Amino acid sequence: MRIDLHTHSTASDGTDSPAGVIEAAAQAGLDVVALTDHDTTAGWQEAAAAARRVGIAFVPGTEVSCRSGGVSAHVLSYLQDPAHPALLALTERTRSARITRAQRIVELLGSDYPISWDDVLEQSEDAATVGRPHIADALVARGHVADRSAAFDELLRPGSRYYVPHYAPDVLEAVRAIRAAGGVPVFAHPGADGRGRIVADAVIVAMADAGLAGLEIEHRDHDDAARARLRGLAHDLGLFATGSSDYHGRGKENLIGENLTSPEVLAQIEADGRLPVVRP
Ligand code: AMP
Ligand code: ZN
Ligand code: FE
Ligand code: FE
Repeated sequence: MRIDLHTHSTASDGTDSPAGVIEAAAQAGLDVVALTDHDTTAGWQEAAAAARRVGIAFVPGTEVSCRSGGVSAHVLSYLQDPAHPALLALTERTRSARITRAQRIVELLGSDYPISWDDVLEQSEDAATVGRPHIADALVARGHVADRSAAFDELLRPGSRYYVPHYAPDVLEAVRAIRAAGGVPVFAHPGADGRGRIVADAVIVAMADAGLAGLEIEHRDHDDAARARLRGLAHDLGLFATGSSDYHGRGKENLIGENLTSPEVLAQIEADGRLPVVRP
């Protein structure tokens, strides 16, 4: 069984449509794939229909933007009730704040790297959630940078003069809201220190107390030391471990299915989640 539990579509900042992600998953020989767009469930319906059509299993999910103090963190939610008000309130507030924040970044880019808000809208046409990748794509379309990665490295990374943060709920509040909505919370790439600061172990301990179920350990942004440290933490705290690609289509180098989750862990997620896995 080949299972990948972290992908993005054009419903957020991936470049494949939700159906396109499912088709890519089937093409890569996956048996199960989750769609986990940032702060939205907008791609679920299209993905579920595509999964039935191509004959693979689909796990509905969301990657919830969070923070802990000044540190940005992402928590995956699987199989939650998409209409539950607790979680919906948080993700709606985040999506709205992301728009104001993206407009501010466009303003700051100003006459140095001129793009218009319409340029960003054009790049985020199908997206329920606007992110820096759409600004990156607008910068590429205007010829200011070569690709998304260059846009991040040169202009959009934290620490850049053009960087602006956005509202996101505290990690503990998010874990509780995910559980309230019947979701299974898994800390996404908790040791990815290449793109900014990461949370301390003590925060992961507090998240476990708040209801965290697992850690995403097999992820390309984790080196061997990070994986070893996280395996120790997962063992001590009784958390399961997942492995996933964080596929973004052409938006990132991550290949769908490049990291996998075991069938035993998927069974645990399904036993704990409010919704069933969509099976062909
Ligand atoms: P935002 O959600 O607006 O804070 O943007 C963060 C998202 O941008 C991440 O979830 C990644 O999908 C993407 N991202 C971060 N760094 C890079 C990079 N160097 N190249 C391409 N995409 C990136
Ligand atoms: Zn993303
Ligand atoms: Fe993430
Ligand atoms: Fe992601």
